Amino acid sequence: MSTIDFHVHVFPNPIEMAVPKELGSYLDLARRMARQILEPADQRMHQLQVWMRHLPEPARAGLDQLGGLTALPRLLVESTPTDLLEAMDSAGVDQAVVIAHPPFASNEWVLEVCRDHAERLVPVVNVARGTDSPGRKLEDYLEQGARALKIHAAADGEGPDSPRYRELLEVARARKLPVILHTGCIHNRLFYKQPEFGRVEAFAPWFEAYPEIPFVLAHMNFHEPQKAIELGELHANVMVDTSWQPPEMIGEAIHRLGARRVLFGSDWPFVGGNLAIGKKRIEEGVASGAYSQEDADLVLGGNAMKLLLGGVDAAMA
Ligand SMILES: [Zn+2]
Repeated sequence: MSTIDFHVHVFPNPIEMAVPKELGSYLDLARRMARQILEPADQRMHQLQVWMRHLPEPARAGLDQLGGLTALPRLLVESTPTDLLEAMDSAGVDQAVVIAHPPFASNEWVLEVCRDHAERLVPVVNVARGTDSPGRKLEDYLEQGARALKIHAAADGEGPDSPRYRELLEVARARKLPVILHTGCIHNRLFYKQPEFGRVEAFAPWFEAYPEIPFVLAHMNFHEPQKAIELGELHANVMVDTSWQPPEMIGEAIHRLGARRVLFGSDWPFVGGNLAIGKKRIEEGVASGAYSQEDADLVLGGNAMKLLLGGVDAAMA
């Protein structure tokens, strides 16, 4: 069984762009060392992120902002395609679904990176706001190998009733494409034009209107995973990814939705060490007896394999 991370990003190497090649190899070594030094801090940041949901929302909003600021410098030491392949090797992850985030990681660049590592990396496109004929553009990307569509309404600053999203969803329906939806109201103005458009409940009309589309709720609605699970109970076409969720919440999603609707996702490289930490959280549930090894195998790769290879009909059967 292949282990597949259904949610990662990559970014162009900041060092390659800024310094001469000879110096670059020294700096690459420094980046690797920095990654090791930062490991204990990464673990604490992941714990802090889970704990934040217990704070009242105004206090959480301040920490969301701070969390965004601390995540940025961390990207200097771990974020490139080479870093990703190294992190996959060390965590024992065979394949990763790489989600474009224009303008920082354009669709064209992500498609190219995934073409260069076709056995391991699977491209997902995010058609940016302002793109002419978004539906046709998505068709173009599908021709070039894109395997799913990402919609990030909070980053776009565009609500669920946007005609542009409707046009994209019509293509997703016709082409039997999974749609990965950012969910979670994260109060961070640096990354998100309109954090409120991350609230999962705003998208309930889509789940109803497009029963043929499997919607993967990225981050399981982040601070408020109960709402994502509740919507999953109401709509059979809703799946969730495990990024930013603690083992007990992953267990609850498996029990309430069934293991077939839960996908391992790490949101690498934000914070750092996500692949290993995210995979371990799923394995912990097996060790504690919360769910079976068979369930964990589905979450860690079986479901993703079905969704990507068998097509959406197989995944939803
Ligand atoms: Zn992400």
